[in-house]
Amino acid sequence: MLNLQLSRCKSGGAMSTSSIESLQIDQQTLLEKLQSLGPWMQGSLIRRYVRCGNPSCHCSQEGDPGHGPHWYLSRSRKGKTMTKKIPKHQVEQVQQQLQRYHVFQDIMHELMETNNRICELMLKEQQAAEGTAAKKRGSGQNSRRK
Ligand SMILES: [Zn+2]
Repeated sequence: MLNLQLSRCKSGGAMSTSSIESLQIDQQTLLEKLQSLGPWMQGSLIRRYVRCGNPSCHCSQEGDPGHGPHWYLSRSRKGKTMTKKIPKHQVEQVQQQLQRYHVFQDIMHELMETNNRICELMLKEQQAAEGTAAKKRGSGQNSRRK
């Protein structure tokens, strides 16, 4: 019975090798996704209505939303918030770039998880290999078992 369990352990080791491989395939897929993502940018798009200050303009009247909307890109850089006006015809493009940043973050998160699992499995396999090597040396067969 004990021998059967040991041989099952060995095939289990082979299985974890294949899952490292499948994780590495996942890793490749994620890297390819990252490469084909397209330009992305971190920040947020702000919509503003402005009042020109001309008292005869419609925007000076109460209840008038003002001129606009005007679009601004807000980004924090080195602790400072930078705001840049975005022309109307580029708003859609900027929106896409900002959305891609979230996709980028998702991919990066998955990539981190995949890499963590690969490393964990590698450590496990090494330990298993060291365990079998120790058993092969034959010293204290049962005392080394956890
Ligand atoms: Zn006005």
